Amino acid sequence: MLVLGGTAEARALAAVLVADGDEVTTSLAGRVADPRLPVGAVRVGGFGGVAGLREHASAYDVVVDATHPFAAQITDNAVRACTERPLVRLQRPGWSGDHVWVDSHEEAAQRAGMLGRRAFLTVGRQELERFVPLLGERRTLVRAVEPVEVPQAWTLLLSRGPYLLDGELALMRTHRVDVLVTKDSGGQHTAPKLEAAARLDVPVVVVRRPRLPDGLTVVETVDAARAWVRGH
Ligand code: NAP
Repeated sequence: MLVLGGTAEARALAAVLVADGDEVTTSLAGRVADPRLPVGAVRVGGFGGVAGLREHASAYDVVVDATHPFAAQITDNAVRACTERPLVRLQRPGWSGDHVWVDSHEEAAQRAGMLGRRAFLTVGRQELERFVPLLGERRTLVRAVEPVEVPQAWTLLLSRGPYLLDGELALMRTHRVDVLVTKDSGGQHTAPKLEAAARLDVPVVVVRRPRLPDGLTVVETVDAARAWVRGH
């Protein structure tokens, strides 16, 4: 089976499937220089759009799209490429809560600019430039996995989760963060920042997930994905 990966769930799924005796290849986009590798075979790099993915997927019995909830392009490509191949989407449930929910990163920048003076941006490296027009001149804390160029007024922190509540509290206090911006990644690995914000009375702006393509079969847990694979 082919697992489109780049998430903790994809690694967990590869581990259980390999333990079941399946032949698993996980595909990574190649964005991160030193990725956490799953067990089983690994291939790295884009497929060259829908046609490339269709061709590649033809060598497998099933495809599991376990990419990040915000990796909308590859999910869309998978749906269009797997018309003749069983495909399931493994996507962890989103967060909920009494936050400021918005539909785009631009709207998040606007709301964050109104809600506070020192934002903490945890939206991923690729989205940061969308915050520059409104927040580029302000002191802002940014956390990313890979190096990225940021405006002079911003402080860039390079690190990779999972994170713990105590560390998140200390970080937000040290940098006097007064508004947190995140996308709705869901899951536990990066959730402690939400609890830290609640304890510090810091408002949270959350970017909603992109809509999933119609008709796509979705499961929310590794166990459910494994059961789906067994069924096929
Ligand atoms: P994206 O915008 O949905 O995809 C852009 C292109 O990258 C795709 O068209 C595809 O290129 C290639 N690609 C993406 N995921 C791939 C994979 N697993 N294997 C092979 N090619 C892949 O993707 P993205 O948001 O940049 O995310 C890239 C990777 O990082 C994904 O694997 C995702 O799980 C992981 N990730 C993303 C985020 C996030 O916030 N977006 C966070 C954590 C991890 P071709 O068209 O050439 O096939």
